[in-house]
Amino acid sequence: MKAFEATNRYIRQASKIMDLGSRVERLLLSPEAEHNVTVPVELDNGDLAVFSGYRVQHNSARGPMKGGLRYHPTVDSDDVRALASLMTWKTAVVNIPYGGAKGGISCDPSQLSQGELERTTRKFIQRIAEEIGPQRDIPAPDVNTNAQVMAWIMDEYSKLHGYSPGVVTGKPLELGGSEGREAATGRGVIYITEEYLKDLGRTLEGATVAIQGFGNVGSFAARFAHEGGAKIVALSDASGAIHSAAGLDMATLLEYGRTRKPLTSYQADGVRTISQQELLTSEVDVLIPAALGGVFTEDVAKEVRAGVIVEGANAPTEPEADEIFQSRGIPVIPDILANAGGVTVSYFEWVQNIQCFRWTEEEVNQRLKHIMTASYATIRNLVKSRNVSWRTAAFIVGLGRVARATVLRGI
Ligand code: NAD
Repeated sequence: MKAFEATNRYIRQASKIMDLGSRVERLLLSPEAEHNVTVPVELDNGDLAVFSGYRVQHNSARGPMKGGLRYHPTVDSDDVRALASLMTWKTAVVNIPYGGAKGGISCDPSQLSQGELERTTRKFIQRIAEEIGPQRDIPAPDVNTNAQVMAWIMDEYSKLHGYSPGVVTGKPLELGGSEGREAATGRGVIYITEEYLKDLGRTLEGATVAIQGFGNVGSFAARFAHEGGAKIVALSDASGAIHSAAGLDMATLLEYGRTRKPLTSYQADGVRTISQQELLTSEVDVLIPAALGGVFTEDVAKEVRAGVIVEGANAPTEPEADEIFQSRGIPVIPDILANAGGVTVSYFEWVQNIQCFRWTEEEVNQRLKHIMTASYATIRNLVKSRNVSWRTAAFIVGLGRVARATVLRGI
Protein backbone atom coordinates (compact mmCIF):
# COMPACT_ATOMS: atom_id res chain seq x y z
CA MET A 1 0.00 0.00 0.00
CA LYS A 2 1.28 3.49 -0.90
CA ALA A 3 2.20 5.66 2.08
CA PHE A 4 -0.50 8.31 1.58
CA GLU A 5 -3.24 5.71 1.21
CA ALA A 6 -1.98 4.04 4.40
CA THR A 7 -2.24 7.33 6.32
CA ASN A 8 -5.70 7.98 4.91
CA ARG A 9 -6.78 4.53 6.04
CA TYR A 10 -5.94 5.49 9.64
CA ILE A 11 -7.88 8.74 9.20
CA ARG A 12 -10.95 6.91 7.87
CA GLN A 13 -10.82 4.39 10.72
CA ALA A 14 -10.81 7.14 13.35
CA SER A 15 -13.34 9.27 11.47
CA LYS A 16 -15.78 6.34 11.40
CA ILE A 17 -15.53 5.82 15.16
CA MET A 18 -16.01 9.57 15.71
CA ASP A 19 -18.84 9.78 13.20
CA LEU A 20 -17.14 12.80 11.67
CA GLY A 21 -19.22 12.84 8.50
CA SER A 22 -18.09 12.73 4.89
CA ARG A 23 -17.90 16.52 4.35
CA VAL A 24 -15.25 17.10 6.99
CA GLU A 25 -13.55 13.78 6.30
CA ARG A 26 -13.06 14.68 2.65
CA LEU A 27 -11.56 18.03 3.64
CA LEU A 28 -9.11 16.41 6.04
CA LEU A 29 -7.98 13.75 3.58
CA SER A 30 -6.74 16.18 0.92
CA PRO A 31 -3.62 18.35 1.09
CA GLU A 32 -4.20 22.09 0.64
CA ALA A 33 -1.32 22.50 -1.81
CA GLU A 34 1.52 20.56 -3.41
CA HIS A 35 4.60 22.24 -4.83
CA ASN A 36 6.71 20.07 -7.11
CA VAL A 37 9.85 21.78 -8.41
CA THR A 38 13.04 20.90 -10.22
CA VAL A 39 16.30 21.67 -8.46
CA PRO A 40 19.11 22.13 -11.00
CA VAL A 41 22.56 22.10 -9.43
CA GLU A 42 26.03 22.64 -10.88
CA LEU A 43 28.21 19.77 -9.62
CA ASP A 44 31.85 20.25 -8.62
CA ASN A 45 33.01 18.43 -11.79
CA GLY A 46 31.08 20.85 -14.02
CA ASP A 47 28.18 18.46 -14.73
CA LEU A 48 24.58 19.44 -14.10
CA ALA A 49 22.30 17.45 -11.82
CA VAL A 50 18.54 18.05 -11.80
CA PHE A 51 16.81 16.80 -8.67
CA SER A 52 13.08 16.72 -7.90
CA GLY A 53 12.00 18.81 -4.91
CA TYR A 54 8.66 18.63 -3.08
CA ARG A 55 6.78 20.65 -0.50
CA VAL A 56 3.31 19.43 0.42
CA GLN A 57 1.16 21.68 2.60
CA HIS A 58 -1.48 19.48 4.11
CA ASN A 59 -3.59 21.58 6.46
CA SER A 60 -3.43 25.07 8.00
CA ALA A 61 -6.67 25.12 10.01
CA ARG A 62 -4.85 25.37 13.37
CA GLY A 63 -1.92 27.59 12.36
CA PRO A 64 1.06 27.91 10.01
CA MET A 65 2.08 24.60 8.47
CA LYS A 66 5.07 22.80 9.91
CA GLY A 67 7.17 19.86 8.86
CA GLY A 68 10.64 18.60 8.09
CA LEU A 69 12.68 18.45 4.95
CA ARG A 70 14.14 15.09 3.93
CA TYR A 71 17.02 14.44 1.51
CA HIS A 72 16.92 10.83 0.33
CA PRO A 73 16.82 8.93 -3.00
CA THR A 74 13.45 7.35 -2.07
CA VAL A 75 11.68 10.71 -1.58
CA ASP A 76 8.68 11.03 -3.91
CA SER A 77 5.43 12.97 -3.94
CA ASP A 78 3.35 10.17 -2.38
CA ASP A 79 5.79 9.78 0.49
CA VAL A 80 5.91 13.51 1.17
CA ARG A 81 2.11 13.76 0.98
CA ALA A 82 1.77 11.04 3.64
CA LEU A 83 4.37 12.64 5.90
CA ALA A 84 2.71 16.07 5.51
CA SER A 85 -0.62 14.59 6.61
CA LEU A 86 1.02 12.96 9.63
CA MET A 87 2.36 16.39 10.66
CA THR A 88 -1.18 17.79 10.73
CA TRP A 89 -2.26 15.11 13.21
CA LYS A 90 0.96 15.26 15.21
CA THR A 91 0.80 19.02 15.86
CA ALA A 92 -2.85 18.58 16.85
CA VAL A 93 -2.12 15.63 19.17
CA VAL A 94 0.37 17.72 21.17
CA ASN A 95 -1.91 20.75 20.78
CA ILE A 96 0.59 23.26 19.41
CA PRO A 97 -0.75 25.97 17.09
CA TYR A 98 0.43 24.54 13.77
CA GLY A 99 -0.84 22.69 10.76
CA GLY A 100 1.12 20.09 8.82
CA ALA A 101 3.53 20.08 5.89
CA LYS A 102 6.53 18.12 4.67
CA GLY A 103 9.19 18.48 2.01
CA GLY A 104 12.04 16.69 0.46
CA ILE A 105 14.53 16.43 -2.34
CA SER A 106 15.06 13.17 -4.16
CA CYS A 107 18.87 13.00 -3.98
CA ASP A 108 21.59 11.01 -2.26
CA PRO A 109 23.41 13.48 -0.01
CA SER A 110 26.19 10.95 0.68
CA GLN A 111 27.21 11.46 -2.97
CA LEU A 112 27.23 15.26 -2.74
CA SER A 113 30.05 17.50 -1.52
CA GLN A 114 29.27 20.12 1.11
CA GLY A 115 29.25 22.79 -1.64
CA GLU A 116 26.86 20.75 -3.80
CA LEU A 117 24.57 20.21 -0.81
CA GLU A 118 24.53 23.95 -0.11
CA ARG A 119 23.75 24.85 -3.74
CA THR A 120 20.99 22.20 -3.81
CA THR A 121 19.42 23.61 -0.65
CA ARG A 122 19.64 27.24 -1.77
CA LYS A 123 18.15 26.49 -5.20
CA PHE A 124 15.26 24.56 -3.63
CA ILE A 125 14.50 27.48 -1.30
CA GLN A 126 14.61 29.94 -4.23
CA ARG A 127 11.99 27.77 -5.93
CA ILE A 128 9.60 27.65 -2.95
CA ALA A 129 10.42 30.99 -1.25
CA GLU A 130 6.95 32.42 -1.84
CA GLU A 131 5.26 29.33 -0.44
CA ILE A 132 7.02 29.19 2.95
CA GLY A 133 7.39 31.81 5.69
CA PRO A 134 7.17 32.29 9.49
CA GLN A 135 3.36 32.66 9.33
CA ARG A 136 2.82 30.32 6.40
CA ASP A 137 4.97 27.17 6.41
CA ILE A 138 8.07 26.48 8.50
CA PRO A 139 10.49 23.68 7.49
CA ALA A 140 12.71 21.77 9.94
CA PRO A 141 15.30 18.96 9.85
CA ASP A 142 14.43 15.38 8.96
CA VAL A 143 16.36 12.47 7.47
CA ASN A 144 19.78 13.64 6.17
CA THR A 145 19.21 17.32 6.92
CA ASN A 146 20.71 19.09 9.91
CA ALA A 147 21.31 22.48 11.54
CA GLN A 148 23.71 23.55 8.77
CA VAL A 149 21.07 22.89 6.11
CA MET A 150 18.57 24.91 8.19
CA ALA A 151 21.11 27.76 8.37
CA TRP A 152 21.32 27.88 4.55
CA ILE A 153 17.52 27.90 4.35
CA MET A 154 17.29 30.80 6.81
CA ASP A 155 19.97 32.74 4.91
CA GLU A 156 18.47 32.17 1.46
CA TYR A 157 14.94 33.09 2.57
CA SER A 158 16.26 36.16 4.45
CA LYS A 159 17.94 37.45 1.26
CA LEU A 160 14.47 37.78 -0.24
CA HIS A 161 12.38 38.72 2.79
CA GLY A 162 14.76 40.36 5.30
CA TYR A 163 16.15 38.69 8.44
CA SER A 164 13.69 35.87 9.16
CA PRO A 165 14.90 33.34 11.73
CA GLY A 166 11.29 32.14 12.26
CA VAL A 167 11.09 30.72 8.72
CA VAL A 168 12.83 27.50 9.74
CA THR A 169 13.56 25.60 12.95
CA GLY A 170 16.37 23.28 13.96
CA LYS A 171 18.84 26.11 13.27
CA PRO A 172 22.28 26.34 14.91
CA LEU A 173 22.19 28.10 18.30
CA GLU A 174 24.22 31.00 16.82
CA LEU A 175 21.39 31.72 14.34
CA GLY A 176 18.40 31.60 16.68
CA GLY A 177 18.22 27.86 17.21
CA SER A 178 16.81 26.63 20.51
CA GLU A 179 18.60 24.91 23.33
CA GLY A 180 17.41 21.31 23.44
CA ARG A 181 16.13 21.13 19.84
CA GLU A 182 18.68 18.65 18.54
CA ALA A 183 17.92 16.14 21.30
CA ALA A 184 14.18 16.84 21.48
CA THR A 185 12.74 14.03 19.37
CA GLY A 186 14.79 11.28 21.04
CA ARG A 187 14.16 12.84 24.46
CA GLY A 188 10.40 12.90 23.77
CA VAL A 189 10.45 9.26 22.64
CA ILE A 190 11.97 8.31 25.98
CA TYR A 191 9.55 10.50 28.01
CA ILE A 192 6.72 8.57 26.34
CA THR A 193 8.44 5.23 26.96
CA GLU A 194 8.87 6.12 30.64
CA GLU A 195 5.19 7.06 30.96
CA TYR A 196 4.15 3.79 29.35
CA LEU A 197 6.38 1.76 31.67
CA LYS A 198 5.11 3.75 34.65
CA ASP A 199 1.57 2.61 33.81
CA LEU A 200 2.87 -0.97 34.02
CA GLY A 201 4.43 -0.23 37.42
CA ARG A 202 7.91 -0.30 35.87
CA THR A 203 10.74 2.12 35.06
CA LEU A 204 13.48 2.16 32.45
CA GLU A 205 15.85 0.57 34.98
CA GLY A 206 16.83 -2.82 33.57
CA ALA A 207 14.40 -2.66 30.63
CA THR A 208 15.81 -4.16 27.42
CA VAL A 209 15.64 -1.91 24.37
CA ALA A 210 16.33 -2.36 20.64
CA ILE A 211 16.64 0.71 18.40
CA GLN A 212 16.68 0.79 14.61
CA GLY A 213 18.51 3.91 13.38
CA PHE A 214 21.44 5.71 14.97
CA GLY A 215 20.97 9.19 13.54
CA ASN A 216 19.40 12.14 15.34
CA VAL A 217 16.37 10.35 16.79
CA GLY A 218 17.97 6.95 17.39
CA SER A 219 21.15 8.21 19.03
CA PHE A 220 19.39 10.55 21.46
CA ALA A 221 16.76 7.91 22.26
CA ALA A 222 19.60 5.46 22.97
CA ARG A 223 21.38 8.01 25.14
CA PHE A 224 18.37 8.92 27.28
CA ALA A 225 17.19 5.30 27.60
CA HIS A 226 20.69 4.34 28.72
CA GLU A 227 20.83 7.25 31.19
CA GLY A 228 17.51 6.04 32.61
CA GLY A 229 19.07 2.64 33.35
CA ALA A 230 17.81 0.69 30.31
CA LYS A 231 19.95 -1.94 28.61
CA ILE A 232 20.33 -1.24 24.87
CA VAL A 233 20.76 -4.74 23.47
CA ALA A 234 20.47 -4.01 19.75
CA LEU A 235 21.17 -0.97 17.58
CA SER A 236 21.41 -0.40 13.85
CA ASP A 237 22.22 2.10 11.14
CA ALA A 238 22.07 1.80 7.34
CA SER A 239 25.13 -0.50 7.39
CA GLY A 240 23.43 -3.15 9.55
CA ALA A 241 22.77 -3.99 13.19
CA ILE A 242 24.77 -4.97 16.27
CA HIS A 243 23.69 -6.92 19.36
CA SER A 244 24.97 -7.53 22.87
CA ALA A 245 22.97 -9.62 25.33
CA ALA A 246 24.76 -7.87 28.21
CA GLY A 247 23.85 -4.42 26.84
CA LEU A 248 25.89 -2.23 24.49
CA ASP A 249 28.42 0.18 25.94
CA MET A 250 26.52 3.36 25.03
CA ALA A 251 29.17 5.83 26.27
CA THR A 252 31.67 4.40 23.77
CA LEU A 253 29.07 3.93 21.03
CA LEU A 254 27.77 7.50 21.22
CA GLU A 255 31.36 8.70 20.84
CA TYR A 256 31.83 6.21 17.96
CA GLY A 257 28.63 7.49 16.29
CA ARG A 258 30.13 10.98 16.06
CA THR A 259 32.93 9.61 13.83
CA ARG A 260 30.24 8.59 11.29
CA LYS A 261 31.85 5.17 10.86
CA PRO A 262 29.38 2.34 10.07
CA LEU A 263 28.02 0.59 13.18
CA THR A 264 28.89 -2.81 11.70
CA SER A 265 32.61 -1.91 11.92
CA TYR A 266 32.27 -1.40 15.68
CA GLN A 267 33.98 -4.17 17.61
CA ALA A 268 33.85 -5.03 21.31
CA ASP A 269 33.63 -8.09 23.53
CA GLY A 270 30.21 -9.76 23.37
CA VAL A 271 29.07 -7.64 20.41
CA ARG A 272 27.99 -9.42 17.22
CA THR A 273 26.45 -8.19 14.01
CA ILE A 274 22.88 -9.21 13.25
CA SER A 275 20.48 -8.39 10.40
CA GLN A 276 17.93 -5.54 10.54
CA GLN A 277 15.25 -8.22 10.60
CA GLU A 278 16.84 -9.86 13.66
CA LEU A 279 16.91 -6.49 15.40
CA LEU A 280 13.23 -5.87 14.68
CA THR A 281 12.27 -9.32 15.91
CA SER A 282 14.54 -9.55 18.95
CA GLU A 283 12.94 -10.27 22.32
CA VAL A 284 12.96 -6.94 24.14
CA ASP A 285 10.78 -4.87 26.45
CA VAL A 286 10.88 -1.83 24.14
CA LEU A 287 11.42 -1.68 20.38
CA ILE A 288 12.08 1.75 18.87
CA PRO A 289 12.13 2.11 15.07
CA ALA A 290 14.02 5.36 14.43
CA ALA A 291 15.11 5.12 10.79
CA LEU A 292 12.85 5.06 7.75
CA GLY A 293 9.17 4.29 7.12
CA GLY A 294 7.57 0.96 6.18
CA VAL A 295 9.89 -1.33 8.17
CA PHE A 296 7.07 -3.24 9.86
CA THR A 297 5.56 -5.24 7.03
CA GLU A 298 3.02 -8.02 7.57
CA ASP A 299 5.80 -10.64 7.61
CA VAL A 300 7.96 -8.78 10.12
CA ALA A 301 4.97 -8.00 12.37
CA LYS A 302 4.23 -11.71 12.78
CA GLU A 303 7.73 -12.24 14.18
CA VAL A 304 8.07 -9.20 16.47
CA ARG A 305 8.66 -10.18 20.12
CA ALA A 306 8.67 -6.77 21.81
CA GLY A 307 6.60 -5.72 24.82
CA VAL A 308 5.83 -2.38 23.22
CA ILE A 309 6.77 -0.52 20.03
CA VAL A 310 7.44 3.19 20.38
CA GLU A 311 7.56 4.81 16.94
CA GLY A 312 10.52 7.20 16.78
CA ALA A 313 10.44 7.11 12.96
CA ASN A 314 7.55 8.42 10.91
CA ALA A 315 5.25 5.77 9.43
CA PRO A 316 7.40 2.72 10.28
CA THR A 317 4.30 0.46 10.46
CA GLU A 318 2.28 -0.60 7.44
CA PRO A 319 -1.50 -0.81 8.13
CA GLU A 320 -1.55 -4.60 7.64
CA ALA A 321 1.24 -4.91 10.21
CA ASP A 322 -0.67 -2.59 12.55
CA GLU A 323 -3.61 -4.99 12.47
CA ILE A 324 -1.32 -7.91 13.25
CA PHE A 325 0.16 -6.04 16.22
CA GLN A 326 -3.37 -5.36 17.46
CA SER A 327 -4.43 -8.97 17.12
CA ARG A 328 -1.22 -10.13 18.83
CA GLY A 329 -1.71 -7.62 21.68
CA ILE A 330 1.51 -5.72 21.02
CA PRO A 331 0.85 -2.03 21.77
CA VAL A 332 2.22 0.47 19.24
CA ILE A 333 2.64 4.03 20.50
CA PRO A 334 2.24 5.87 17.20
CA ASP A 335 4.60 8.35 15.58
CA ILE A 336 2.09 11.20 15.87
CA LEU A 337 2.48 11.00 19.65
CA ALA A 338 5.83 9.29 20.25
CA ASN A 339 8.08 11.43 18.06
CA ALA A 340 6.26 14.75 18.55
CA GLY A 341 9.04 16.05 20.81
CA GLY A 342 10.92 17.42 17.80
CA VAL A 343 8.09 19.54 16.47
CA THR A 344 7.26 20.64 20.02
CA VAL A 345 10.71 22.11 20.58
CA SER A 346 10.62 23.47 17.03
CA TYR A 347 7.53 25.35 18.17
CA PHE A 348 9.48 26.64 21.20
CA GLU A 349 12.25 27.77 18.84
CA TRP A 350 9.77 29.66 16.65
CA VAL A 351 8.19 31.29 19.73
CA GLN A 352 11.65 32.41 20.92
CA ASN A 353 12.44 33.79 17.43
CA ILE A 354 9.20 35.77 17.30
CA GLN A 355 9.77 37.15 20.82
CA CYS A 356 13.54 37.72 20.24
CA PHE A 357 14.01 36.04 23.61
CA ARG A 358 15.98 32.95 24.64
CA TRP A 359 14.94 30.17 27.00
CA THR A 360 17.39 28.03 28.95
CA GLU A 361 17.77 24.34 28.14
CA GLU A 362 16.14 23.52 31.47
CA GLU A 363 13.06 25.60 30.59
CA VAL A 364 12.82 23.93 27.17
CA ASN A 365 13.09 20.41 28.60
CA GLN A 366 10.59 21.11 31.38
CA ARG A 367 8.02 22.46 28.94
CA LEU A 368 8.69 19.55 26.55
CA LYS A 369 8.15 17.03 29.34
CA HIS A 370 4.92 18.73 30.35
CA ILE A 371 3.52 18.62 26.80
CA MET A 372 4.63 15.03 26.11
CA THR A 373 3.32 13.61 29.38
CA ALA A 374 0.01 15.51 29.18
CA SER A 375 -0.50 14.34 25.58
CA TYR A 376 0.38 10.79 26.58
CA ALA A 377 -2.23 10.89 29.38
CA THR A 378 -4.93 12.18 27.01
CA ILE A 379 -4.31 9.36 24.52
CA ARG A 380 -3.91 6.68 27.21
CA ASN A 381 -7.24 7.65 28.76
CA LEU A 382 -8.92 7.33 25.37
CA VAL A 383 -7.29 3.94 24.73
CA LYS A 384 -8.83 2.75 28.00
CA SER A 385 -12.24 4.44 27.76
CA ARG A 386 -12.93 3.62 24.08
CA ASN A 387 -11.03 0.33 23.95
CA VAL A 388 -9.18 1.37 20.78
CA SER A 389 -5.53 1.08 19.72
CA TRP A 390 -3.04 3.79 20.63
CA ARG A 391 -2.90 4.86 17.00
CA THR A 392 -6.66 5.13 16.63
CA ALA A 393 -6.88 7.07 19.91
CA ALA A 394 -4.20 9.52 18.71
CA PHE A 395 -5.98 10.00 15.37
CA ILE A 396 -9.29 10.58 17.18
CA VAL A 397 -7.70 13.38 19.25
CA GLY A 398 -5.87 14.90 16.27
CA LEU A 399 -8.83 14.69 13.90
CA GLY A 400 -11.19 16.13 16.52
CA ARG A 401 -9.01 19.21 17.07
CA VAL A 402 -8.42 19.86 13.36
CA ALA A 403 -12.07 19.23 12.47
CA ARG A 404 -13.30 21.70 15.10
CA ALA A 405 -10.86 24.38 13.90
CA THR A 406 -11.92 23.74 10.30
CA VAL A 407 -15.61 24.04 11.09
CA LEU A 408 -15.08 27.20 13.18
CA ARG A 409 -13.05 28.90 10.44
CA GLY A 410 -15.33 27.82 7.60
CA ILE A 411 -14.34 26.67 4.15
P1 NAD B 1 18.95 10.79 10.45
O1 NAD B 1 19.27 11.00 9.03
O2 NAD B 1 19.63 11.61 11.48
O3 NAD B 1 19.20 9.24 10.84
C1 NAD B 1 18.65 8.19 10.12
C2 NAD B 1 19.29 6.90 10.64
O4 NAD B 1 18.67 5.79 10.00
C3 NAD B 1 20.77 6.79 10.35
O5 NAD B 1 21.42 6.18 11.45
C4 NAD B 1 20.82 5.84 9.15
O6 NAD B 1 22.04 5.13 9.05
C5 NAD B 1 19.68 4.93 9.51
N1 NAD B 1 19.16 4.19 8.36
C6 NAD B 1 18.95 4.61 7.10
N2 NAD B 1 18.50 3.60 6.35
C7 NAD B 1 18.38 2.54 7.15
C8 NAD B 1 17.98 1.21 6.97
N3 NAD B 1 17.57 0.77 5.79
N4 NAD B 1 18.01 0.38 8.04
C9 NAD B 1 18.42 0.83 9.26
N5 NAD B 1 18.81 2.07 9.49
C10 NAD B 1 18.81 2.91 8.45
O7 NAD B 1 17.36 10.93 10.56
P2 NAD B 1 16.50 11.27 11.84
O8 NAD B 1 16.27 12.73 11.87
O9 NAD B 1 17.06 10.58 13.02
O10 NAD B 1 15.09 10.64 11.44
C11 NAD B 1 14.82 9.26 11.65
C12 NAD B 1 13.32 9.04 11.59
O11 NAD B 1 12.69 9.84 12.60
C13 NAD B 1 12.65 9.45 10.29
O12 NAD B 1 11.55 8.59 10.05
C14 NAD B 1 12.14 10.85 10.58
O13 NAD B 1 11.06 11.22 9.74
C15 NAD B 1 11.71 10.68 12.00
N6 NAD B 1 11.62 11.92 12.76
C16 NAD B 1 12.69 12.76 12.89
C17 NAD B 1 12.56 13.91 13.65
C18 NAD B 1 13.72 14.84 13.89
O14 NAD B 1 13.56 15.78 14.69
N7 NAD B 1 14.87 14.63 13.30
C19 NAD B 1 11.33 14.23 14.25
C20 NAD B 1 10.27 13.35 14.12
C21 NAD B 1 10.43 12.19 13.38
